[in-house]
This record gives sequence, structure tokens and C-alpha cells, in this order.
Amino acid sequence: MKRMTDGTVLNNGVTIPWLGFGTWKATGEQVLESVTTALAAGYRSIDTAAIYGNEAEVGQAIKSSGVPREELFVTTKLWNEHQGYDSTLRAFEESRKKLGLDVIDLYLIHWPGTNKYKDTWKAFERLYEEGSVRAIGVSNFQIRHLEDLLQNSSVVPVINQVELHPRLVQKELHDFCLKHRIQLEAWSPLMQGQLTQEPVIAAIASKYGKSSAQVILRWDIQKGIVTIPKSVTAERIRENADIFDFELTAEEIAQIDGLNQDKRVGPDPDQFVF
Ligand code: NDP
Repeated sequence: MKRMTDGTVLNNGVTIPWLGFGTWKATGEQVLESVTTALAAGYRSIDTAAIYGNEAEVGQAIKSSGVPREELFVTTKLWNEHQGYDSTLRAFEESRKKLGLDVIDLYLIHWPGTNKYKDTWKAFERLYEEGSVRAIGVSNFQIRHLEDLLQNSSVVPVINQVELHPRLVQKELHDFCLKHRIQLEAWSPLMQGQLTQEPVIAAIASKYGKSSAQVILRWDIQKGIVTIPKSVTAERIRENADIFDFELTAEEIAQIDGLNQDKRVGPDPDQFVF
């Protein structure tokens, strides 16, 4: 992990960059501009979702960037109300059309919900087999959901994208994913901007002449976690990508791990039922 385009090889042989760009809550002109800035700054992985209402603008920014398609890694997600076999296939076509891409790099089940994710996964397997997606994965899956899916399907998810930051280290889930070769990916890696003043992180940041955000993102990738910070601020978009010229010590990583409080900023997947 020396350069921004460095990535990790997923369990199906496809490579995803360690650093991606988040787009939640950014829509219209703002998302068009921020994805354009991110691509110009060298990001090559973009994370969107049907529910973000910005797939068309993300697709537009990608198209006008001139970045060759094969250099890009585009993730989108199936929204909850579309779970189920046929509805998944229909929702996928919508996302693909909006993004203006023939092939999506990674398609994720956005939330496990209660009882439809196995049918949904069958549709995901079909999309994967027919080559409409290069990889399929899940988001917000707890260990019990993953165990259930692994026992009842043939394709192992490449990724589990979950809330993860220094206040929610997710150690047990990380260990489980490592054991099953499921790559962990951190959403809200900056805890939505809430950790910029945290003293332990700030002290490490000042040692390296970096910002707290940069230290957190570096902590992610050194722990083997793919990370997708979001910003609509050009300066921060570039700042968040400038994390490949320093290295945290094992002790500093442990110090940041020690900030865990099992605290979420987003919904708890066990309570977010639909
Ligand atoms: P992040 O943890 O990435 O934080 C984003 C917030 O932090 C914004 O308010 C941003 O402000 C601010 N920020 C960004 N960079 C800096 C910086 N260098 N210094 C200080 N503040 C900064 O939160 P998100 O919730 O957006 O998560 C990231 C991405 O993960 C999402 O955009 C989305 O793609 C994905 N996600 C997936 C979910 C899922 O269920 N699978 C759920 C939630 C998110 P500003 O934009 O104003 O610069």
C-alpha cells in the first residue's frame, strides 16, 4: 500500500483499491463535482447505492472524467425494498442504466433485513455468473447473517461493508471475515467527522504532520480494511487520499484500537428490520 491505486485481491481474484470515495448524502451538482474532483485527485474506486439517488450523476462524472473504464472500480448497492429474486434483477438493471455502465464492479446487498437475503443472493449469483457484475458482496451483515448465507449458497461474498471506525472496531466480525476470506470494508470510517478532536488520534497526527482523518484512514488500510471516506470539500477529498507516505507503528494501531466503545453512528443491523 504505497500508492493510491494499490489494492487488495478479493476472494474471486478481482482487485479493489484500499481507498475508495464515498458519496452518501451528496446529490445533484454536488456529487457530480465531488466525484469529478476525486477522480482528478486519483481515486479509482467510487461507492454509491440505489438509495443515495445519485447513480446517474456518479455515472456522468465517471464518463466525463476520461478515466479508462478498466482503471475504475464502481460499487453500488441493492436497496432493501427490492430484495427478492425477481425484484433484485429489475433493480440491478435500473442501477446499471443510471450508472451508464455495462458491468458493475461490485454489487452489494445493502442491509440483511430479515428473511429475503438468501433469495436475493441467488439473483446476485446469477448476475455474477452472467458477467453483469465482477464481484458480489454484502453490507451490514452480522456474523449470524454471514454464517447463514455461507451455509446456503455457492458463492462466498467478496466483501462485507460495515460501519467501522475507532469507536466501533468490529474485532469479532473482522476475525470472522478474515477466516472466511471476506474482505472487510469500512463505512463512515471518519465517524462522519466526529473524531477530528479525539486526543489520542490528534497526538499521533501531530507526530506525522498529518490530520486526524488521515491517521484514521491509514489505520484502516494498515489493518487490512478497505476504506471509503466521503467528502464534498475539494481540499478534504485530496487530504483523505494523501495517506500513502507514512506508516503507523503497531503500538499506535493498538492505541487507536483502544478507543473502541462499540458505538455506532448508523443503525444497528440487528434492529434495522424490514
Ligand atoms: P464519513 O465517515 O466518510 O464522514 C463524512 C463526513 O466527514 C462529512 O461530513 C465530511 O464533510 C467530513 N469529512 C470528510 N473528510 C474530512 C476531513 N479530512 N476532515 C474533517 N472532516 C472530514 O461518513 P459517511 O457516512 O459518508 O461514510 C462514508 C461512505 O460510506 C458513504 O459516503 C457511503 O458511500 C458509505 N456508507 C455506506 C453505508 C452502508 O450501509 N453500506 C452507510 C453509510 C455510509 P464534507 O463532506 O462536508 O467535507
